[in-house]
Amino acid sequence: MAYIMISVSEAKNLVLESAELLGIQAISLYDSTGFTLAEDIFSNIDVPSFNQSAMDGYGLKFEDLKETKSLSIIGKIPAGVFPDFKVAPNSAVRIFTGSQIPEGCDTVVVQEKVTVNSNQLFVNDEQLKKGMNIRLKGSQTKKGNLALKAGTKITPGASGFLAGLGFNEVKVFKTPKVCIINTGKELIKPGQSNEPSKVYESNSYSLNAALSEFNIKPQTIICIDDDEGTITESIKNNLSECDILIISGGVSVGDYDFVAKALDNCGVKCIFHKVKQKPGKPLYFGKINNTLIFGLPGNPAATLTCFYEYIMPAIKKMMGYNADSETKVCLPLTTSFVKKAGLTFFIKGKVVSNGVTPLNAQESYQMSSFAFADCIIQLDEDRTEYSEGDLVEVHLLKI
Ligand code: AMP
Ligand code: MG
Repeated sequence: MAYIMISVSEAKNLVLESAELLGIQAISLYDSTGFTLAEDIFSNIDVPSFNQSAMDGYGLKFEDLKETKSLSIIGKIPAGVFPDFKVAPNSAVRIFTGSQIPEGCDTVVVQEKVTVNSNQLFVNDEQLKKGMNIRLKGSQTKKGNLALKAGTKITPGASGFLAGLGFNEVKVFKTPKVCIINTGKELIKPGQSNEPSKVYESNSYSLNAALSEFNIKPQTIICIDDDEGTITESIKNNLSECDILIISGGVSVGDYDFVAKALDNCGVKCIFHKVKQKPGKPLYFGKINNTLIFGLPGNPAATLTCFYEYIMPAIKKMMGYNADSETKVCLPLTTSFVKKAGLTFFIKGKVVSNGVTPLNAQESYQMSSFAFADCIIQLDEDRTEYSEGDLVEVHLLKI
C-alpha cells in the first residue's frame, strides 16, 4: 500500500502522539543516571545540617577581636566530631573544613592569616568580617523545600545533589524495552573477516550506543536476511517483548525491501511511510498495542539521524523528560549552504565559538562526519539557499 509522503513536522507530531509515559520504578541512585525523576523530591533535612566551617583555620567570636589582641586556643574540632563544649569569650578553637562550628563562635579565620604562639592566637586578617568562612545551616537546601522536580534527568550533578540530601534510592520512569532487527543479506558482523560484496553491520552499534545514553540496553539485537518470511517471523517473535521495535534496512522500494510487508503481515498499523526529508526519506512508523515500530532506512547516517530526530524524542516522552531537557538551539551558520527544495535536510554539524558549521561527507552512507559531529542542523523543506550568518535550528546530540 502506498502512503503519502508527509512533512517532517507532521511525522514528528505523529510519533510523539503515539508515545506514552511508561511506568514508575524505584531504583538505586547509583543506577539511575539517564533516568528521569517520577516524583518531586523534597528535602528531609537542612543542608548543611549544621553551621559548618568552610576552611581550615580557627573559630572565634568576631566581637572579641575588638577587645583583645590574642585569643586562647582551647581545643580542636575535627570534621565529623560533635563539639560538646562552648567557646568562652576571648577564646578560639582550631577548626577544619566541614567541622561543626561550636557554640560561642560566629567567624572562622583561615590558618594562613594567623600566628600561633604558646597556644595564643594572633589574627592578622584585615579583611575578616563577622560570619566569614562559615556555611550556614540550610544555606543550600532547607528541610521541606522542593529539591528537584519530577521529570528532571538524573545527571552526575543531580545524583550528587540527591545523595547529599541522604537519598540512596529514587523513583524514576521506566526505560522502554527496545529490540533491534537488522535486515540485509550483505551484512556481516564487525570482527569477522571481510568478504566480497559484504558490508559490516554498523547500525546496531550506533543505535546501541545512542540507547546506552538513556541507560537502555536492547533486549535483543539480531541480524537477518532479506526474506519476507524470516523478517515476519522475527518481528512476531520480538514484538511482544518490547515497547520500541527498531528495524533497520529493507524499508524502501527495492525488490528485496520486505519490512513494510512483513509488518503488515504481523498486524502492525502503519502510521506513516516516507517523510519529506534527507537523509531517511523511506522512514516507516507504525504501532501495535503499545509498541512503537520504527523502520529505519539502512544507510548508516540515515539510521542514526532518524534515531535522533524521531526515536529519541519518543524515548524522552516515554521516560518522562521535562521540557528543560530540550536540546534544540538556534545558531548562525558559519558558511553558506545550498540545498534543493521539497525536502527537510538534516546536516551533520559541529558547534563552534561563532555558530554552527556543516561538516563534509553528508551522504547517507557516510559515517565519517557523524563520528565527530556534535549536532544535526535542520534546514527547512522549502528553502534552497542559506547564507553565512543565517540562523538555523540545531539539534544537539546529547540527551
Ligand atoms: P536498505 O535500507 O536495506 O536499502 O539499505 C541501504 C544501504 O544501507 C545499503 O547500502 C545497505 O548495505 C546499508 N545497510 C543496511 N543495513 C545496514 C547496517 N545494519 N549496517 C550498515 N549498513 C547497512
Ligand atoms: Mg537492504
